[in-house]
Amino acid sequence: MTNEAKTTQVAVVGAGPGGYAAAFMAADLGLQVTLIDLDPNPGGTCLYRGCIPSKALLHVAKVIADARDAEHYGITFAAPAINIDKLRQSVNAVIGKLTGGLGQLCKARKIQFIQGRANFEDSSTLKITKDSGEAEILRYRYAILAAGSRPAILEKFLLDSPRVLNSTTALRMDNIPDTLLVVGAGYIGLELGSVYATLGTKVTVVEMAPTILPGADPDLVSPLARRIEPLIHKIILNAKVTDMKEAKNGIKVTMEAPGLELRNQVFDKVLICVGRKPNSSGLGLMNTKVTVDDHGFVIVDKQRRTADPNIFAIGDIVGNPMLAHKASHEGRVAAEVIAGRKVVFAPRAIPAVVFTDPEIAWCGLTETQAAREGRAIKVARFPWQASGRAMTLDRPEGMTKLIADPDTDVVLGVGIVGTGAGELISEGVLAIEMGAVASDIHLTIHPHPTLGETIMESAEIIFGSSTHVYRKK
Ligand code: FAD
Repeated sequence: MTNEAKTTQVAVVGAGPGGYAAAFMAADLGLQVTLIDLDPNPGGTCLYRGCIPSKALLHVAKVIADARDAEHYGITFAAPAINIDKLRQSVNAVIGKLTGGLGQLCKARKIQFIQGRANFEDSSTLKITKDSGEAEILRYRYAILAAGSRPAILEKFLLDSPRVLNSTTALRMDNIPDTLLVVGAGYIGLELGSVYATLGTKVTVVEMAPTILPGADPDLVSPLARRIEPLIHKIILNAKVTDMKEAKNGIKVTMEAPGLELRNQVFDKVLICVGRKPNSSGLGLMNTKVTVDDHGFVIVDKQRRTADPNIFAIGDIVGNPMLAHKASHEGRVAAEVIAGRKVVFAPRAIPAVVFTDPEIAWCGLTETQAAREGRAIKVARFPWQASGRAMTLDRPEGMTKLIADPDTDVVLGVGIVGTGAGELISEGVLAIEMGAVASDIHLTIHPHPTLGETIMESAEIIFGSSTHVYRKK
């Protein structure tokens, strides 16, 4: 049944970090806002089945690893006893608190939140269908499309088996399998693979590319590759899964790599982490003027306006990098544009963080990208063996590097591998956004002993004299 049409100034479809940030901004700017999502509260992939549950689990993995590493100081603990039900409950409690809090923030801002599936009827009308089957019509002046993305599947092996997981089902932690094959060594595969491996699963990772984390600078990846070697049972590179069958005792997988064929390897579970696809189908976009590219990403301009003048789009649905903080910033820009502000989404740097142990983080120009573009750069690397703080933490494997323009010393990129890299990278992002030169960083007094000093010292290396690194003239 469809009730009489409601109206709103701004309808936001999807309440992930893009959608709720857009809705909150629009409401703060005095607009009347309706926010629609399938889940009972705002949060989206990030809070319900992405960033937050994965980071809670990675924290647990880090606690276990740190306890194990304490042996270095002569302190030993008993092997961990894992209560999987309690673990699951505590992660769910975090999700509940955060999403509930966002629900409260919606109410405080007088945003109308509707739980249901939105479908575009035309360029100014949405039909929202609730779980009960009841539908309502919402007419809007502007819409912000923030429907996000979903895990990509291996089309050839559409195995409808509870033994085949994606990131969403893997995060549910139904049990700790004895063996797990992770297909794809991108950041999600490695983060989830590390969690399961630390909890006791024998994890194998298979990756088509010649390296884990394809696309990241190799010098940032090497310390991670070395550290996870004893944790992950096997990493098979340059390899493709060519067959997957359900068997009585697991999933039988055949993998092929140059000169190698691994036939019928049996795993308790297989976790597919081969990327994410935009949720642009099934939204009725054909009833609007919105256009999508060959990969299904919605095409937008710098203000995040689609080809339909009434509709904006933000977040994962508009393309890479598919990251929560990018989505939020785009959302706020779209809301500001709707409110009449002259703003564009034009970041100089969007940070990327891989929350493995050690973490890897980078922002701005990477060495890989500079090489691809044939761009001249100056690179300074500060090894963490020379950092007092890294030594006190017994984590000297890290490295901080600064990429600068060879003529002007303007900071173009920062890359960090090491414990806490994700917290450290923001200084690099700020430097790039502010157009800082390397001397701005090296003349900024950093507190001692901290890992932040490694950024200052990498800037000192640009000028040939770092206190803790001696280089022969
Ligand atoms: P989403 O968060 O995907 O939200 C879209 C929302 O739209 C969803 O709630 C969906 O239910 C809703 N929706 C879809 N269709 C409709 C419809 N027709 N009607 C109504 N509602 C609809 N990013 C980071 O920055 N850092 C991390 O550490 C990180 N870790 C991740 C770990 C995992 C395991 C995964 C899967 C992702 C991770 N990400 C991380 C990526 C991050 O979650 C996404 O980039 C981010 O959530 C995108 O935000 P969004 O608002 O564009 O869309």
